[in-house]
Amino acid sequence: MARMRAMLLDAPGRPLRAAELAVPDPGPGEVLVRVLACGVCRTDLHLVDGELPDPKLPVVPGHEIVGEVAAVGAGVDGIEIGRRVGVPWLGRTCGTCRFCRSARENLCDAPLFTGYTRDGGYAEYTVADARYCFPLPEADPVAQAPFLCAGLIGYRAYRFAGQAERLGIYGFGAAAHILAQIATAEGRQLYVFTRPGDRAAQDFARRLGAVWVGGSDERPPVPLDAAIVFAPVGALVPAALRAVDKGGVVVLGGIHMSDIPAFPYRILWEERVVRSVANLTRADGLGFFEKLARTPVTTETVRFPLEAANDALAALREGRLQGAAVLVP
Ligand SMILES: [Zn+2]
Ligand SMILES: [Zn+2]
Repeated sequence: MARMRAMLLDAPGRPLRAAELAVPDPGPGEVLVRVLACGVCRTDLHLVDGELPDPKLPVVPGHEIVGEVAAVGAGVDGIEIGRRVGVPWLGRTCGTCRFCRSARENLCDAPLFTGYTRDGGYAEYTVADARYCFPLPEADPVAQAPFLCAGLIGYRAYRFAGQAERLGIYGFGAAAHILAQIATAEGRQLYVFTRPGDRAAQDFARRLGAVWVGGSDERPPVPLDAAIVFAPVGALVPAALRAVDKGGVVVLGGIHMSDIPAFPYRILWEERVVRSVANLTRADGLGFFEKLARTPVTTETVRFPLEAANDALAALREGRLQGAAVLVP
């Protein structure tokens, strides 16, 4: 039986372990994907830290997978061996619950999530449900990897920010640096908030077109139409509410966040809205990749060998990365 290298989470709170596993067989409707690159997402940190309930254990993390189809299971149509594909967080949905039936498959009652409740891409191979893979153009797989979650979730958050002319972003990491390029290409003015004093992140944001950058403890020079909070810091929610104008929306882009402190009703008053973003739909993905085909977006990545996954996670945790960490098997 063919073997592969993988990084495995045995239990939350423990470092990932380098393991040798059998190359999985694609079941009906599935494809075997040879992983070319897999991005490291903040959600992987939440998984490793035990902040996400009920993971499959042990589990191979990783849900920003760029690879090529190495084998197809029974009944797979229209996706041939050798095809470049991306495998995102949304691994499968039931198709029958009331969320699936109302174009909200991101909220499915019985979903599977890549690298969380099914094995993901911190490995040489993974299997995926063919219907949830996105066809990708041939390009540098390391550069493409961050699109698969940071890009997709950022894009969904951006859609919920509506027609905001003045758009705030709290936390300038992997998602924000992709989104910034799309938003500025569409004529939005970007106001970027980073950790106070994080000059590297602030310079990075300015380089990608922000009209104003500052610390998260600062107020923007003008009231904003919308703000997206990518940093997993609950205290930023009232800060963002204070930064948005009447009718403004604050979109929370993360799967986990520290507690939101109590705040006075008057900063929510006047029809300000706070909303979260959960997962993605396949329609989001198609819309996003279509947008990428028209709007050139470059990603800033830091490449790590697969076996250095723990180092990549530590760098992300400590805020030492500029752009996105990507594992290469
Ligand atoms: Zn993610
Ligand atoms: Zn469902």
